[in-house]
Amino acid sequence: MFSRVLIANRGEIALRVLRACKSLGVETVCVYSEADRDAIYLRMAEETICIGPPPSGQSYLNIPRIISAAEIADVEAIHPGYGFLSENAHFAEVCRDCRIGFIGPPPEVIAKMGDKVSAKACARRAGVPLVPGSDGLVESEQDALAVAHRIGFPVIIKATAGGGGRGMRVAHNDVSFLTGFAAARTEAEAAFKNPGVYIEKYVEKARHVEIQILADAHGNVVYLGERDCSIQRRHQKLVEEGPSPFLDEDLRARMGQAAVALAKEVGYVNAGTIEFLVDADRNFYFMEMNTRIQVEHPVTEEITGLDLVALQLRIAAGEPLPFKQEDVKLRGHAIECRINAEDPDDGFKPRAGLIERLFVPGGRNVRWDSHVYAGYRVPSNYDSMIAKLIVWGEDREQAIDRMRRALGELVVEGVPTSASLHRKIMSNVHFLRGNATTSFLDDYFTR
Ligand code: ADP
Repeated sequence: MFSRVLIANRGEIALRVLRACKSLGVETVCVYSEADRDAIYLRMAEETICIGPPPSGQSYLNIPRIISAAEIADVEAIHPGYGFLSENAHFAEVCRDCRIGFIGPPPEVIAKMGDKVSAKACARRAGVPLVPGSDGLVESEQDALAVAHRIGFPVIIKATAGGGGRGMRVAHNDVSFLTGFAAARTEAEAAFKNPGVYIEKYVEKARHVEIQILADAHGNVVYLGERDCSIQRRHQKLVEEGPSPFLDEDLRARMGQAAVALAKEVGYVNAGTIEFLVDADRNFYFMEMNTRIQVEHPVTEEITGLDLVALQLRIAAGEPLPFKQEDVKLRGHAIECRINAEDPDDGFKPRAGLIERLFVPGGRNVRWDSHVYAGYRVPSNYDSMIAKLIVWGEDREQAIDRMRRALGELVVEGVPTSASLHRKIMSNVHFLRGNATTSFLDDYFTR
Protein backbone atom coordinates (compact mmCIF):
# COMPACT_ATOMS: atom_id res chain seq x y z
CA MET A 1 0.00 0.00 0.00
CA PHE A 2 1.06 3.60 -0.54
CA SER A 3 2.36 5.45 2.48
CA ARG A 4 1.38 8.96 1.30
CA VAL A 5 -1.29 10.13 -1.14
CA LEU A 6 -2.27 13.57 -2.45
CA ILE A 7 -5.97 14.36 -2.81
CA ALA A 8 -6.45 16.58 -5.86
CA ASN A 9 -9.99 17.68 -5.10
CA ARG A 10 -12.15 19.54 -2.60
CA GLY A 11 -15.37 19.32 -0.63
CA GLU A 12 -17.12 16.11 0.29
CA ILE A 13 -15.09 13.88 -2.03
CA ALA A 14 -11.79 15.18 -0.64
CA LEU A 15 -13.03 14.22 2.82
CA ARG A 16 -14.32 10.87 1.53
CA VAL A 17 -10.92 9.99 0.06
CA LEU A 18 -9.20 11.20 3.22
CA ARG A 19 -11.36 8.83 5.28
CA ALA A 20 -10.47 5.88 3.05
CA CYS A 21 -6.77 6.75 3.35
CA LYS A 22 -7.04 6.89 7.16
CA SER A 23 -8.74 3.49 7.22
CA LEU A 24 -5.76 2.07 5.31
CA GLY A 25 -3.14 3.90 7.39
CA VAL A 26 -2.14 6.07 4.43
CA GLU A 27 -0.94 9.64 5.08
CA THR A 28 -2.80 12.36 3.21
CA VAL A 29 -1.77 15.60 1.58
CA CYS A 30 -4.66 17.94 0.78
CA VAL A 31 -4.36 20.76 -1.72
CA TYR A 32 -6.76 23.68 -1.53
CA SER A 33 -7.59 26.94 -3.23
CA GLU A 34 -7.84 30.24 -1.39
CA ALA A 35 -11.64 29.84 -1.39
CA ASP A 36 -11.28 26.64 0.65
CA ARG A 37 -8.76 27.73 3.24
CA ASP A 38 -11.32 27.27 6.03
CA ALA A 39 -12.25 23.72 5.02
CA ILE A 40 -12.38 21.60 8.18
CA TYR A 41 -11.00 18.48 6.52
CA LEU A 42 -7.68 20.28 6.00
CA ARG A 43 -7.11 19.80 9.74
CA MET A 44 -7.31 16.04 9.31
CA ALA A 45 -4.59 15.83 6.66
CA GLU A 46 -0.92 15.26 7.44
CA GLU A 47 -0.01 18.14 5.14
CA THR A 48 -1.88 20.86 3.29
CA ILE A 49 -0.74 22.98 0.37
CA CYS A 50 -2.43 26.05 -1.09
CA ILE A 51 -2.38 25.75 -4.88
CA GLY A 52 -3.84 29.08 -5.92
CA PRO A 53 -6.75 31.47 -6.14
CA PRO A 54 -10.42 30.39 -6.19
CA PRO A 55 -11.01 29.95 -9.97
CA SER A 56 -10.50 26.24 -10.66
CA GLY A 57 -8.34 26.96 -13.72
CA GLN A 58 -5.79 28.45 -11.34
CA SER A 59 -6.12 25.77 -8.66
CA TYR A 60 -7.96 22.43 -8.88
CA LEU A 61 -7.59 22.26 -12.67
CA ASN A 62 -4.03 23.52 -12.74
CA ILE A 63 -1.84 20.53 -13.57
CA PRO A 64 1.62 22.12 -13.01
CA ARG A 65 0.59 23.38 -9.56
CA ILE A 66 -0.83 20.06 -8.47
CA ILE A 67 2.17 18.14 -9.73
CA SER A 68 4.52 20.57 -7.95
CA ALA A 69 2.55 20.06 -4.74
CA ALA A 70 2.83 16.29 -5.18
CA GLU A 71 6.58 16.55 -5.68
CA ILE A 72 7.12 18.92 -2.75
CA ALA A 73 5.01 16.73 -0.46
CA ASP A 74 6.73 13.63 -1.82
CA VAL A 75 3.60 11.51 -2.35
CA GLU A 76 3.49 8.20 -4.18
CA ALA A 77 0.08 8.68 -5.73
CA ILE A 78 -2.73 11.16 -6.46
CA HIS A 79 -6.44 10.52 -5.99
CA PRO A 80 -8.35 12.84 -8.36
CA GLY A 81 -11.85 12.34 -6.86
CA TYR A 82 -14.62 13.16 -9.37
CA GLY A 83 -14.93 16.20 -11.63
CA PHE A 84 -11.88 18.47 -12.01
CA LEU A 85 -8.94 16.41 -13.37
CA SER A 86 -10.42 12.99 -12.70
CA GLU A 87 -11.14 12.22 -16.36
CA ASN A 88 -8.29 14.20 -17.84
CA ALA A 89 -6.09 11.77 -19.78
CA HIS A 90 -3.30 14.33 -20.07
CA PHE A 91 -3.15 14.70 -16.29
CA ALA A 92 -2.94 10.92 -15.84
CA GLU A 93 -0.13 10.89 -18.40
CA VAL A 94 1.79 13.67 -16.65
CA CYS A 95 1.47 11.70 -13.39
CA ARG A 96 2.93 8.65 -15.13
CA ASP A 97 5.78 10.68 -16.63
CA CYS A 98 6.57 12.06 -13.17
CA ARG A 99 6.40 8.58 -11.65
CA ILE A 100 3.45 9.48 -9.47
CA GLY A 101 0.68 6.89 -9.25
CA PHE A 102 -2.70 7.97 -10.62
CA ILE A 103 -5.58 6.38 -8.72
CA GLY A 104 -7.70 5.63 -11.76
CA PRO A 105 -7.31 3.90 -15.13
CA PRO A 106 -4.35 4.36 -17.51
CA PRO A 107 -4.38 7.56 -19.63
CA GLU A 108 -5.05 5.61 -22.85
CA VAL A 109 -8.23 4.15 -21.37
CA ILE A 110 -9.42 7.54 -20.07
CA ALA A 111 -8.87 9.02 -23.53
CA LYS A 112 -10.76 6.19 -25.25
CA MET A 113 -13.75 6.35 -22.93
CA GLY A 114 -13.75 10.13 -22.39
CA ASP A 115 -14.75 10.67 -25.98
CA LYS A 116 -18.29 9.35 -26.28
CA VAL A 117 -18.08 8.47 -29.97
CA SER A 118 -14.92 6.46 -29.41
CA ALA A 119 -16.47 4.86 -26.29
CA LYS A 120 -19.45 3.74 -28.37
CA ALA A 121 -17.10 2.15 -30.89
CA CYS A 122 -15.47 0.18 -28.05
CA ALA A 123 -18.89 -0.88 -26.75
CA ARG A 124 -19.83 -2.10 -30.23
CA ARG A 125 -16.65 -4.19 -30.40
CA ALA A 126 -17.46 -5.66 -26.98
CA GLY A 127 -20.92 -6.70 -28.24
CA VAL A 128 -22.73 -4.25 -25.94
CA PRO A 129 -26.06 -2.97 -27.35
CA LEU A 130 -26.10 0.68 -28.49
CA VAL A 131 -28.88 3.22 -28.95
CA PRO A 132 -29.55 3.53 -32.72
CA GLY A 133 -27.88 6.65 -34.05
CA SER A 134 -25.24 8.21 -36.25
CA ASP A 135 -22.17 6.23 -37.04
CA GLY A 136 -19.76 8.57 -35.28
CA LEU A 137 -19.67 12.36 -35.51
CA VAL A 138 -21.92 14.34 -37.82
CA GLU A 139 -20.47 17.47 -39.36
CA SER A 140 -23.06 19.10 -41.58
CA GLU A 141 -26.69 20.03 -41.02
CA GLN A 142 -27.77 17.95 -44.03
CA ASP A 143 -25.99 14.80 -42.82
CA ALA A 144 -27.40 15.31 -39.34
CA LEU A 145 -30.92 15.78 -40.59
CA ALA A 146 -30.62 12.67 -42.77
CA VAL A 147 -29.64 10.64 -39.70
CA ALA A 148 -32.56 12.08 -37.72
CA HIS A 149 -34.96 11.10 -40.50
CA ARG A 150 -33.47 7.61 -40.76
CA ILE A 151 -33.81 6.84 -37.03
CA GLY A 152 -36.99 8.91 -36.56
CA PHE A 153 -37.87 11.65 -34.06
CA PRO A 154 -37.45 12.24 -31.21
CA VAL A 155 -33.66 12.29 -31.32
CA ILE A 156 -30.98 13.62 -28.99
CA ILE A 157 -27.94 15.56 -30.18
CA LYS A 158 -24.97 14.92 -27.89
CA ALA A 159 -21.48 16.38 -27.59
CA THR A 160 -18.79 13.72 -27.96
CA ALA A 161 -16.74 15.51 -25.28
CA GLY A 162 -19.83 16.19 -23.17
CA GLY A 163 -20.36 15.75 -19.46
CA GLY A 164 -22.42 17.10 -16.61
CA GLY A 165 -25.55 17.14 -18.75
CA ARG A 166 -24.16 19.87 -21.01
CA GLY A 167 -24.05 19.89 -24.80
CA MET A 168 -27.25 17.88 -25.21
CA ARG A 169 -30.44 18.79 -27.09
CA VAL A 170 -33.61 16.79 -27.63
CA ALA A 171 -35.47 17.42 -30.89
CA HIS A 172 -38.95 16.37 -31.97
CA ASN A 173 -39.05 17.82 -35.48
CA ASP A 174 -36.91 19.41 -38.21
CA VAL A 175 -37.16 22.92 -36.79
CA SER A 176 -36.17 22.05 -33.23
CA PHE A 177 -33.52 19.72 -34.64
CA LEU A 178 -31.74 22.40 -36.68
CA THR A 179 -31.82 24.90 -33.81
CA GLY A 180 -30.67 22.20 -31.38
CA PHE A 181 -27.88 21.03 -33.66
CA ALA A 182 -26.37 24.53 -33.87
CA ALA A 183 -26.87 25.15 -30.15
CA ALA A 184 -25.31 21.83 -29.11
CA ARG A 185 -22.24 22.48 -31.27
CA THR A 186 -21.78 26.00 -29.92
CA GLU A 187 -22.26 24.86 -26.33
CA ALA A 188 -19.83 21.97 -26.82
CA GLU A 189 -17.20 24.24 -28.33
CA ALA A 190 -17.56 26.74 -25.48
CA ALA A 191 -17.64 24.18 -22.67
CA PHE A 192 -15.28 21.47 -23.97
CA LYS A 193 -13.35 23.16 -26.80
CA ASN A 194 -14.64 20.42 -29.09
CA PRO A 195 -17.72 21.07 -31.25
CA GLY A 196 -18.10 17.39 -32.27
CA VAL A 197 -21.64 16.07 -31.86
CA TYR A 198 -23.41 12.82 -32.68
CA ILE A 199 -27.04 11.78 -32.83
CA GLU A 200 -29.00 9.12 -31.02
CA LYS A 201 -32.59 8.02 -30.91
CA TYR A 202 -34.12 9.69 -27.85
CA VAL A 203 -35.32 6.79 -25.74
CA GLU A 204 -38.59 7.88 -24.13
CA LYS A 205 -39.80 6.61 -20.77
CA ALA A 206 -36.26 5.36 -20.18
CA ARG A 207 -34.51 4.59 -16.97
CA HIS A 208 -30.89 5.52 -16.32
CA VAL A 209 -29.32 2.41 -14.85
CA GLU A 210 -25.57 2.19 -14.35
CA ILE A 211 -23.31 -0.69 -13.44
CA GLN A 212 -20.42 -0.24 -11.02
CA ILE A 213 -17.37 -2.26 -11.91
CA LEU A 214 -13.98 -2.85 -10.34
CA ALA A 215 -11.00 -4.10 -12.31
CA ASP A 216 -7.55 -4.88 -10.94
CA ALA A 217 -4.24 -4.81 -12.79
CA HIS A 218 -4.21 -8.62 -13.00
CA GLY A 219 -7.16 -9.04 -15.35
CA ASN A 220 -9.90 -9.57 -12.75
CA VAL A 221 -13.11 -7.62 -13.36
CA VAL A 222 -16.28 -7.76 -11.25
CA TYR A 223 -19.60 -5.91 -11.34
CA LEU A 224 -21.22 -4.69 -8.15
CA GLY A 225 -24.85 -4.41 -9.15
CA GLU A 226 -26.53 -1.28 -10.39
CA ARG A 227 -27.71 2.18 -9.40
CA ASP A 228 -30.90 3.65 -10.79
CA CYS A 229 -30.33 7.36 -11.42
CA SER A 230 -33.49 8.14 -13.34
CA ILE A 231 -34.48 11.10 -11.19
CA GLN A 232 -32.67 13.93 -12.92
CA ARG A 233 -33.03 17.59 -13.60
CA ARG A 234 -31.71 18.73 -16.97
CA HIS A 235 -29.91 15.40 -17.35
CA GLN A 236 -28.19 15.82 -13.97
CA LYS A 237 -28.78 13.27 -11.25
CA LEU A 238 -30.65 14.24 -8.09
CA VAL A 239 -31.63 10.93 -6.47
CA GLU A 240 -29.90 7.57 -6.91
CA GLU A 241 -30.92 4.19 -5.59
CA GLY A 242 -29.88 0.59 -5.71
CA PRO A 243 -31.01 -1.97 -6.62
CA SER A 244 -33.13 -0.51 -9.42
CA PRO A 245 -36.84 -1.18 -8.79
CA PHE A 246 -37.10 -2.02 -12.50
CA LEU A 247 -34.47 -4.77 -12.83
CA ASP A 248 -34.79 -8.47 -12.18
CA GLU A 249 -31.96 -10.95 -11.58
CA ASP A 250 -31.72 -11.90 -15.22
CA LEU A 251 -31.46 -8.35 -16.57
CA ARG A 252 -29.02 -7.42 -13.79
CA ALA A 253 -26.76 -10.31 -14.74
CA ARG A 254 -26.93 -9.50 -18.47
CA MET A 255 -26.14 -5.83 -17.89
CA GLY A 256 -23.38 -6.73 -15.45
CA GLN A 257 -21.81 -9.10 -17.94
CA ALA A 258 -22.02 -6.49 -20.71
CA ALA A 259 -20.25 -3.99 -18.42
CA VAL A 260 -17.52 -6.50 -17.64
CA ALA A 261 -17.10 -7.33 -21.33
CA LEU A 262 -16.59 -3.65 -22.14
CA ALA A 263 -14.12 -3.18 -19.26
CA LYS A 264 -12.10 -6.14 -20.55
CA GLU A 265 -12.27 -4.92 -24.14
CA VAL A 266 -10.59 -1.61 -23.23
CA GLY A 267 -8.15 -3.00 -20.66
CA TYR A 268 -9.85 -1.15 -17.83
CA VAL A 269 -8.20 -0.88 -14.41
CA ASN A 270 -9.67 0.61 -11.20
CA ALA A 271 -13.28 1.62 -10.38
CA GLY A 272 -15.56 2.57 -13.26
CA THR A 273 -19.20 2.97 -14.15
CA ILE A 274 -20.95 1.95 -17.31
CA GLU A 275 -24.12 3.93 -17.89
CA PHE A 276 -27.08 2.41 -19.70
CA LEU A 277 -30.57 3.42 -20.70
CA VAL A 278 -33.24 0.80 -20.12
CA ASP A 279 -36.42 1.24 -22.15
CA ALA A 280 -39.99 0.34 -21.18
CA ASP A 281 -39.53 -3.12 -22.78
CA ARG A 282 -36.41 -3.76 -20.69
CA ASN A 283 -33.98 -3.42 -23.57
CA PHE A 284 -30.74 -1.87 -22.41
CA TYR A 285 -28.37 0.36 -24.37
CA PHE A 286 -24.86 1.62 -23.62
CA MET A 287 -24.67 5.38 -23.06
CA GLU A 288 -21.21 6.16 -21.74
CA MET A 289 -18.54 5.12 -19.29
CA ASN A 290 -17.27 7.19 -16.38
CA THR A 291 -13.65 6.38 -15.65
CA ARG A 292 -13.60 7.54 -12.04
CA ILE A 293 -15.34 7.21 -8.70
CA GLN A 294 -18.82 8.67 -8.96
CA VAL A 295 -20.80 10.96 -6.67
CA GLU A 296 -23.34 8.19 -6.06
CA HIS A 297 -20.82 5.44 -5.14
CA PRO A 298 -22.11 5.22 -1.51
CA VAL A 299 -25.33 3.58 -2.81
CA THR A 300 -23.24 0.62 -3.97
CA GLU A 301 -21.16 0.67 -0.79
CA GLU A 302 -24.29 0.39 1.33
CA ILE A 303 -25.74 -2.60 -0.54
CA THR A 304 -22.45 -4.46 -1.00
CA GLY A 305 -20.69 -3.60 2.28
CA LEU A 306 -17.55 -2.63 0.31
CA ASP A 307 -15.41 0.50 0.62
CA LEU A 308 -15.00 1.48 -3.03
CA VAL A 309 -12.46 4.24 -2.42
CA ALA A 310 -10.28 1.96 -0.30
CA LEU A 311 -10.50 -0.61 -3.11
CA GLN A 312 -9.44 2.06 -5.62
CA LEU A 313 -6.32 2.66 -3.55
CA ARG A 314 -5.59 -1.04 -3.23
CA ILE A 315 -6.02 -1.60 -6.96
CA ALA A 316 -3.76 1.37 -7.78
CA ALA A 317 -1.15 -0.05 -5.41
CA GLY A 318 -1.16 -3.24 -7.50
CA GLU A 319 -3.13 -5.51 -5.17
CA PRO A 320 -5.45 -8.08 -6.72
CA LEU A 321 -9.18 -7.81 -6.01
CA PRO A 322 -9.75 -9.53 -2.64
CA PHE A 323 -12.98 -11.25 -3.81
CA LYS A 324 -14.58 -12.85 -6.86
CA GLN A 325 -17.85 -12.20 -8.67
CA GLU A 326 -19.63 -15.00 -6.82
CA ASP A 327 -18.68 -13.39 -3.50
CA VAL A 328 -20.53 -10.17 -4.35
CA LYS A 329 -23.90 -10.23 -2.57
CA LEU A 330 -26.36 -7.36 -2.74
CA ARG A 331 -28.21 -6.78 0.49
CA GLY A 332 -31.17 -4.48 1.16
CA HIS A 333 -31.79 -1.16 -0.52
CA ALA A 334 -29.98 2.19 -0.49
CA ILE A 335 -31.03 5.68 -1.58
CA GLU A 336 -28.95 8.83 -1.96
CA CYS A 337 -30.28 12.40 -2.16
CA ARG A 338 -27.92 15.10 -3.39
CA ILE A 339 -28.27 18.17 -1.22
CA ASN A 340 -27.40 21.17 -3.37
CA ALA A 341 -27.17 24.78 -2.24
CA GLU A 342 -29.72 26.00 -4.74
CA ASP A 343 -33.19 27.36 -4.71
CA PRO A 344 -35.88 24.98 -6.01
CA ASP A 345 -38.35 27.90 -5.93
CA ASP A 346 -36.13 30.08 -8.10
CA GLY A 347 -35.25 27.86 -11.04
CA PHE A 348 -32.72 25.86 -9.00
CA LYS A 349 -30.28 28.75 -9.10
CA PRO A 350 -27.08 27.91 -7.19
CA ARG A 351 -26.85 29.99 -4.03
CA ALA A 352 -23.55 30.62 -2.30
CA GLY A 353 -23.49 32.03 1.20
CA LEU A 354 -23.13 31.38 4.89
CA ILE A 355 -24.64 28.28 6.47
CA GLU A 356 -25.92 29.81 9.70
CA ARG A 357 -27.40 26.74 11.33
CA LEU A 358 -27.02 23.08 10.53
CA PHE A 359 -28.53 19.99 12.03
CA VAL A 360 -27.43 16.75 10.43
CA PRO A 361 -29.76 13.72 10.38
CA GLY A 362 -28.54 10.58 12.04
CA GLY A 363 -29.58 7.30 13.57
CA ARG A 364 -29.15 3.79 12.31
CA ASN A 365 -28.27 3.35 8.63
CA VAL A 366 -28.27 7.05 7.91
CA ARG A 367 -25.08 8.32 6.28
CA TRP A 368 -24.16 11.97 5.78
CA ASP A 369 -21.20 12.53 3.43
CA SER A 370 -20.39 16.20 3.64
CA HIS A 371 -17.69 18.72 4.44
CA VAL A 372 -20.01 21.54 5.59
CA TYR A 373 -20.72 22.84 9.09
CA ALA A 374 -22.57 25.70 10.76
CA GLY A 375 -20.52 28.80 10.04
CA TYR A 376 -19.26 27.43 6.70
CA ARG A 377 -19.48 29.74 3.74
CA VAL A 378 -20.47 27.98 0.51
CA PRO A 379 -18.16 29.47 -2.14
CA SER A 380 -19.62 30.55 -5.46
CA ASN A 381 -16.72 29.17 -7.46
CA TYR A 382 -17.59 25.48 -7.50
CA ASP A 383 -20.38 22.97 -7.83
CA SER A 384 -23.40 23.62 -5.64
CA MET A 385 -23.53 20.18 -4.01
CA ILE A 386 -22.91 20.53 -0.27
CA ALA A 387 -23.83 17.08 1.00
CA LYS A 388 -25.07 13.62 0.16
CA LEU A 389 -27.66 11.99 2.38
CA ILE A 390 -27.64 8.21 2.07
CA VAL A 391 -29.86 5.69 3.82
CA TRP A 392 -29.99 1.93 3.87
CA GLY A 393 -33.01 -0.30 4.58
CA GLU A 394 -33.82 -4.01 4.51
CA ASP A 395 -36.06 -3.25 1.53
CA ARG A 396 -37.03 -0.28 -0.63
CA GLU A 397 -39.97 0.67 1.55
CA GLN A 398 -37.87 0.84 4.68
CA ALA A 399 -35.18 2.82 2.87
CA ILE A 400 -37.78 5.37 1.67
CA ASP A 401 -39.23 5.66 5.19
CA ARG A 402 -35.76 6.26 6.57
CA MET A 403 -34.98 8.86 3.93
CA ARG A 404 -38.22 10.67 4.71
CA ARG A 405 -37.40 10.68 8.39
CA ALA A 406 -33.81 11.81 7.76
CA LEU A 407 -34.91 14.63 5.43
CA GLY A 408 -37.39 15.68 8.10
CA GLU A 409 -34.56 16.00 10.63
CA LEU A 410 -32.25 17.98 8.36
CA VAL A 411 -31.96 21.69 9.11
CA VAL A 412 -29.90 23.98 6.90
CA GLU A 413 -30.37 27.71 7.46
CA GLY A 414 -28.71 30.53 5.57
CA VAL A 415 -28.76 29.01 2.09
CA PRO A 416 -31.73 27.33 0.36
CA THR A 417 -31.22 23.67 -0.56
CA SER A 418 -32.73 20.96 -2.71
CA ALA A 419 -33.92 19.14 0.47
CA SER A 420 -37.42 20.58 0.08
CA LEU A 421 -37.70 19.00 -3.36
CA HIS A 422 -36.39 15.67 -2.04
CA ARG A 423 -39.11 15.66 0.62
CA LYS A 424 -41.71 15.95 -2.11
CA ILE A 425 -40.07 13.29 -4.27
CA MET A 426 -40.02 10.82 -1.36
CA SER A 427 -43.82 11.09 -1.13
CA ASN A 428 -44.58 11.06 -4.86
CA VAL A 429 -46.79 8.12 -5.75
CA HIS A 430 -44.94 7.33 -8.98
CA PHE A 431 -41.62 7.27 -7.15
CA LEU A 432 -43.11 5.10 -4.40
CA ARG A 433 -44.26 2.60 -7.02
CA GLY A 434 -40.78 2.53 -8.53
CA ASN A 435 -42.02 3.97 -11.81
CA ALA A 436 -39.76 7.00 -12.18
CA THR A 437 -38.17 7.48 -15.60
CA THR A 438 -35.76 10.21 -16.70
CA SER A 439 -38.73 12.51 -17.39
CA PHE A 440 -40.03 12.14 -13.80
CA LEU A 441 -39.24 15.70 -12.68
CA ASP A 442 -40.61 17.26 -15.86
CA ASP A 443 -43.72 15.11 -15.63
CA TYR A 444 -44.62 15.72 -11.99
CA PHE A 445 -42.74 18.81 -10.85
CA THR A 446 -42.28 22.15 -12.51
CA ARG A 447 -38.83 22.76 -13.89
P1 ADP B 1 -23.39 13.43 -19.38
O1 ADP B 1 -22.06 12.83 -19.69
O2 ADP B 1 -23.49 14.87 -19.73
O3 ADP B 1 -23.89 13.12 -18.00
P2 ADP B 1 -24.95 11.22 -20.49
O4 ADP B 1 -24.57 10.64 -21.80
O5 ADP B 1 -24.53 10.47 -19.28
O6 ADP B 1 -24.40 12.73 -20.41
O7 ADP B 1 -26.51 11.44 -20.43
C1 ADP B 1 -27.10 12.12 -19.35
C2 ADP B 1 -28.60 11.89 -19.35
O8 ADP B 1 -29.18 12.34 -20.57
C3 ADP B 1 -29.01 10.45 -19.22
O9 ADP B 1 -29.02 9.98 -17.91
C4 ADP B 1 -30.41 10.48 -19.83
O10 ADP B 1 -31.36 10.99 -18.92
C5 ADP B 1 -30.26 11.50 -20.94
N1 ADP B 1 -29.96 10.82 -22.23
C6 ADP B 1 -28.77 10.70 -22.82
N2 ADP B 1 -28.87 10.02 -24.00
C7 ADP B 1 -30.17 9.70 -24.13
C8 ADP B 1 -30.95 9.00 -25.14
N3 ADP B 1 -30.38 8.49 -26.24
N4 ADP B 1 -32.27 8.85 -24.92
C9 ADP B 1 -32.88 9.37 -23.81
N5 ADP B 1 -32.20 10.03 -22.85
C10 ADP B 1 -30.87 10.21 -22.99
